[in-house]
Amino acid sequence: MKTAENDKKVTILGVSFIHITLDNMVKRLVTHVQEKRKAFVVTANPEIVLYANENKEYKQYIDKADYVTPDGIGIVKGAQLLGQPLPERVTGFDMFMNLLEASNEHRFSIYLLGAKEEVLVKTKDVITKNYPNITIVGSHNGFFDWNDTVIDTEIKEKKPDFVFVALGFPRQEQWIAQRIETFQQGVFIGIGGSFDVLAGEVKRAPEVWQKLNLEWFYRLVKQPSRWRRMLALPRFAVKIFGNKMKRSS
Ligand code: UDP
Repeated sequence: MKTAENDKKVTILGVSFIHITLDNMVKRLVTHVQEKRKAFVVTANPEIVLYANENKEYKQYIDKADYVTPDGIGIVKGAQLLGQPLPERVTGFDMFMNLLEASNEHRFSIYLLGAKEEVLVKTKDVITKNYPNITIVGSHNGFFDWNDTVIDTEIKEKKPDFVFVALGFPRQEQWIAQRIETFQQGVFIGIGGSFDVLAGEVKRAPEVWQKLNLEWFYRLVKQPSRWRRMLALPRFAVKIFGNKMKRSS
């Protein structure tokens, strides 16, 4: 179901990223909605790429995506190192914000899936207050029985333009990949912990930190429990170097 065959791609450890700016990616997804062409978007960070590199089943889910975008500076740097630079970061949170803006402008409808119930309620409040033209046609927290089809049925009935799936990796990619074929329309995008950020539960790094490409370090300081997950970053770097050596020998 790939709809993006003609796009320029940059492949990092087997995962093909679209070579596009944030603005153009958002415009592209708006066009999908307007033309009623469904899409599956993965916003991949180094952790996701490593996992896909080492886990066949997960790689198959990622391969079903129409678009994979670079979620974070690690991917952008990795691409640069491999001599195939990407224009910029196209993160899940930035896309979420820009797509809400666009949805407000075009009066699109959305469905929210993920996070704890209280975070989801706060997220809906913030959206209703700040984006009055958006219709939230439905929502569900991220803690449900995987075999339950209530969510699928609701999405099929309400036909939201965007389905924001904030279950964290690898669940969100699996959830979308396993059912995207059964949906007629809609843009489905995995956005990790974005509801927590919008709801004010988790603070995003101040802009200075972001500009210095140190957002990952800020997250580590604020949520030290993530250190184990962060070990993916040096492992990712080592693999990229190995890949570069192989290519140049
Ligand atoms: N989450 C969920 N269902 C689960 C596990 C996690 O909805 O079974 C949510 C969690 O509440 C949080 C998000 O998924 O809102 C994961 O956030 P994290 O920052 O870990 O995302 P990532 O780093 O993968 O982008």
